[in-house]
Amino acid sequence: MDLIDADLLRDTCLIDGIWTGEPKLAVTDPATGEEIARVPQFGAAETREAIAAAERALPAWRARTAKERATILRRWFDAILAATEDLAMIMTREQGKPLAEARGEIAYAASYVEWFAEEAKRVYGEIIPSHRADSRLLVIRQPVGVCAAITPWNFPAAMITRKAAAALAAGCTLVVKPASQTPLTALALGRLAQRAGVPAGVINIITGSAREIGGELTANPVVRKLSFTGSTEIGKLLMAQSAGTLKKLSMELGGNAPFIVFDDADLDAAVEGAIASKYRNTGQTCVCVNRILVQDGVHDEFARRLAIAVAQLKVGPGTEPGVTQGPLIDVPALDKVEEHIANAVEHGAAVLSGGQRHALGGTFFEPTVLTGCTPDMALAREETFGPVAALFRFTDEAEAIRLANDTEFGLAGYFYSRDIGRIWRVAEAMECGMIGINTGLISTEVAPFGGIKESGFGREGSRHGIEDYSEIKYLCMAGL
Ligand code: ADP
Repeated sequence: MDLIDADLLRDTCLIDGIWTGEPKLAVTDPATGEEIARVPQFGAAETREAIAAAERALPAWRARTAKERATILRRWFDAILAATEDLAMIMTREQGKPLAEARGEIAYAASYVEWFAEEAKRVYGEIIPSHRADSRLLVIRQPVGVCAAITPWNFPAAMITRKAAAALAAGCTLVVKPASQTPLTALALGRLAQRAGVPAGVINIITGSAREIGGELTANPVVRKLSFTGSTEIGKLLMAQSAGTLKKLSMELGGNAPFIVFDDADLDAAVEGAIASKYRNTGQTCVCVNRILVQDGVHDEFARRLAIAVAQLKVGPGTEPGVTQGPLIDVPALDKVEEHIANAVEHGAAVLSGGQRHALGGTFFEPTVLTGCTPDMALAREETFGPVAALFRFTDEAEAIRLANDTEFGLAGYFYSRDIGRIWRVAEAMECGMIGINTGLISTEVAPFGGIKESGFGREGSRHGIEDYSEIKYLCMAGL
């Protein structure tokens, strides 16, 4: 891989400030199937070492002033931005997303580091009016301690920084296990953190067996908190595993985002929002629209305009200029997309565009639009995580809300309307942690990201993001 700074391509892991391990586990480019690097295959023993390093680093890191931690994080932010081109190239090669999207993710990932560098200084306590004349009641916030982060492949940089920056800002130390498909971006971020002056052991990054590393991170009593982004299935498993040591948890799990287009919507804006939310990262984000619910009066016109917009999308390797749709991450992802389409067609859906594996082969898939979708189809119940827009028809607002909420998930939801009364009614009725109203793009470091129901709990970004990494301690000072 041609990089400006070849030192960012790491084939070892970061434990206690030392780069260690034998490169074993192959990392492949999903656009070509080519092996691009190897990283260590660590298990429980190395995980214990990383946890011990984080434990040793904790007292000194916690004791620094918030401003000192903020200064180091700020340098990390600058270093990430300065390395944008290399980080984006590494990401595109291991993950598949178009280079323009990868650059966008680096800016987005860096924004969390900047934000939490600033928030580090604002972890305020409280003074509570006392229940007794001779006492004063105070609340202070302290770092949780050693934390663990397990992250997915769809946002190889941002899912790490929004956990790591919040943890470090709060005074915690961290062990990160990135997804096996995308460890290289994570390791490059670790290298930049080290250069920015993050002390040895404060951030440790280990690659290898998810089961073994996850087992140790959840069983080890030194780890006080686990933050996980990934599937609901694995989230439940990790929660059960964490019960033994009663860890604090943040769970950002799967979604099944509804996108409602009402009769009074601005249709061009709705099409633009649907494209942005559905096809970003080839449909592989947890806030991607999974079900597009369109009201009778505008259904056919919306479908027509959506198909025209979808025809403009360009499929290809992410490194090629102008490409907007990269490959799917792997063959199981491709199989799931095919199964969902076949199941929908079997149950009466019509293919308006796409529907097939792309002529490019590999894991490339045609951007697809289906109409006539119904709640009994697999794609109505599970996250497709691919470039398939599934259109459902509805008649009135009550039906739209019922359909939207007919899922165990509750991460993101979207709707388009110009009616102010309806906007409030629907926004309050939708069972989601985040709602896009007349927009398909909602993510920003300044707002709280997270879900409800089986999409998890905890919030990342915003002023709430750092709270997840601090404990409340109440002090009762009596005898005054
Ligand atoms: P995705 O569908 O995004 O791959 P997963 O939940 O399978 O979602 O994976 C998300 C992260 O969880 C990855 O880093 C993966 O390696 C990790 N993971 C998968 N299985 C386990 C497990 N049993 N224990 C701990 N981590 C796991």
